[in-house]
Amino acid sequence: MARIDLHSHTTASDGSLTPEELVQLAKQQGVTALAVTDHDTVAGLPRAMAEGERVGVEIIPGIEISCLYGKTELHLLGYFIHPDDPRLISSLLTYQASREDRNPRIVQRLQELGCAVTYSDVQAIAGNATIGRPHIAQALLRKGDVTSVSDAFNRYLADDASAYFPRTLPSPAEAIGLIRQIGGIPVMAHPVYASRLKDPFEQVCATLKELGLMGIEALYGSHNQKQTDYYRSAAQNQGLLITGGSDFHGDSKPNLLVGTGYGNLSVSPDLLEPMRALATV
Ligand code: AMP
Ligand code: ZN
Ligand code: FE
Ligand code: FE
Repeated sequence: MARIDLHSHTTASDGSLTPEELVQLAKQQGVTALAVTDHDTVAGLPRAMAEGERVGVEIIPGIEISCLYGKTELHLLGYFIHPDDPRLISSLLTYQASREDRNPRIVQRLQELGCAVTYSDVQAIAGNATIGRPHIAQALLRKGDVTSVSDAFNRYLADDASAYFPRTLPSPAEAIGLIRQIGGIPVMAHPVYASRLKDPFEQVCATLKELGLMGIEALYGSHNQKQTDYYRSAAQNQGLLITGGSDFHGDSKPNLLVGTGYGNLSVSPDLLEPMRALATV
């Protein structure tokens, strides 16, 4: 059965596969269309698109942008974006700067807490990528400060853990507005995490829809059937598109595979057509 995957990361952000490796793996997994949605960067798109053309996988240009809803981080996916738009490039520079301000603070706090990790360890792991907490988690793991990436998040890096520092994030209006301005379709990523928000889920959806949100990622790598059904009907009730993706990262999310998630994910190519129809050229 043909399948698509509308959420994936490469070495341009916090994924462990290069754009080419990701696209080749997607091909092997029977994925016919793949959205590459790196955090706050479009740097992986040209290589992913070239490889997609070579092996015969349609690559949908995408991005994942974090915003702040009330006091909680919320992730938005943007699909069919125009990566060269100057408004995007200028906003991405601001988002990168907020990471560069936050990341050394996290490492400093880790050292105060007794960890051996240094900022150059993190930079060595990230290379040219947009540095994210998964890189810091990998550096902690290599230094023997933690036993796994999830240990790193639980003890230190999660937003309620001891070495967390927030960064300046755009508002939902700003992030959704930006994606719309650059021709994209804004979609709420992994809605299961939105259950941490203070407002009831339906109210969050209605508020975001008012701001221009167009879809919900009802099918997600780690959703169970009950969650999928719930988010699917929430999207239908609100007149929002249903989308789906694995959130493949490679090493930092072991056992999560592009296309199939933890084994049960299957996103139909039919979901892509209404999105394509809404994308502005
Ligand atoms: P950042 O972009 O630096 O704020 O880091 C956030 C990213 O960390 C998320 O997009 C996930 O990819 C990853 N992440 C968050 N929580 C966990 C966790 N518990 N285990 C593994 N990765 C996580
Ligand atoms: Zn990530
Ligand atoms: Fe995310
Ligand atoms: Fe993601």
